[in-house]
Amino acid sequence: MSKVYITRKIPEIAFTMLKDKGITYDMNPKDRPLTKKELIKALKKQSYDGVLSLLTDPIDGEVFDAAPTVKIYANYAVGFNNINIDEAKKRGIIVTNTPGGLTESVAEHAFALILALTCRIVEGDNFIRAKKYKGWAPMLLMGTDLKDKTLGILGTGRIGADVVHKAVRGFGMTVLYYDIVRNEMLEKEYGAKFCASPEEVLRQADVVSLHVPLMDSTHHLINYDHLSMMKKTAYIINTSRGPVIDEAALVRALKEGKIAGAGLDVFENEPDLSSGLTKLSNVVLTPHIASATVTARDDMAVLAANNLIAFFEGKTPVNKVV
Ligand code: NAD
Repeated sequence: MSKVYITRKIPEIAFTMLKDKGITYDMNPKDRPLTKKELIKALKKQSYDGVLSLLTDPIDGEVFDAAPTVKIYANYAVGFNNINIDEAKKRGIIVTNTPGGLTESVAEHAFALILALTCRIVEGDNFIRAKKYKGWAPMLLMGTDLKDKTLGILGTGRIGADVVHKAVRGFGMTVLYYDIVRNEMLEKEYGAKFCASPEEVLRQADVVSLHVPLMDSTHHLINYDHLSMMKKTAYIINTSRGPVIDEAALVRALKEGKIAGAGLDVFENEPDLSSGLTKLSNVVLTPHIASATVTARDDMAVLAANNLIAFFEGKTPVNKVV
């Protein structure tokens, strides 16, 4: 009988699926991420066969060494930058992720951030709660239309492509994109224009949305120089991973009016925020909840459980990363 360690409570459906297959599990009883030390201690208690991990769990060679019987880490996330993939590969450990079900949820959240900024939703809400609203006024909190504006996407994989779909079909925007892989479907279907560099996108777009994975090559993909080359009226949206933007540089650029605003779901050192970020009125911040819809989180739970089940049945998990 296979035994799994689950690093934090996720939707119930995963537990039902594991139990139905006779897979037993222990779970972190705390409603917070485990520290690496706590995770190692927990994994040393039993000879586990697998781990269901979260994006908040730093999993590296030290963790692998502490749990030599664990042959699969089923990460409950699309991103897997929390796991040292090279070390996993070296040791023949399987890593899986949960892409798919959350694609539309994250794309919708990117649009929620875009609209919150361009329609000045948060500012308007704060204005009313502060009892400043004295009646309709012709120039009050003027926003920006999206129709005929240019959306720039960096990373047109699953989520980036869905943002393109929503932008073109839903809002009448035109699209520029940069990706290391050209996406001909987006060009044909949505008239998206490929740019040869991120800079080319940044210079022309009215809204820039980031959808790249976090890797060495995308760490600080957006720095102060990049923000300075954007239009002063442009917005930047990040629902990918925090370190893709140099956050201190973003605060500086926002303060200096290099760009009009930012919508952020992810942060460079979560849950800590760069100094000055929350003082800015032209930012909208959400606590890494882009995939936090009931449907998406249930889908992720099903995918993670299915990946474990497939592995224990001797099959290749559908979402195998390595
Ligand atoms: P994906 O793998 O389908 O797409 C990523 C795209 O980025 C690919 O097309 C790839 O070619 C491209 N890319 C890689 N390196 C690049 C580079 N240097 N420059 C430009 N493009 C590059 O992934 P996805 O499902 O679309 O998810 C994207 C990311 O979103 C995930 O890796 C994850 O970190 C993040 N994410 C965040 C949340 C959230 O809750 N905020 C939820 C899900 C996913």
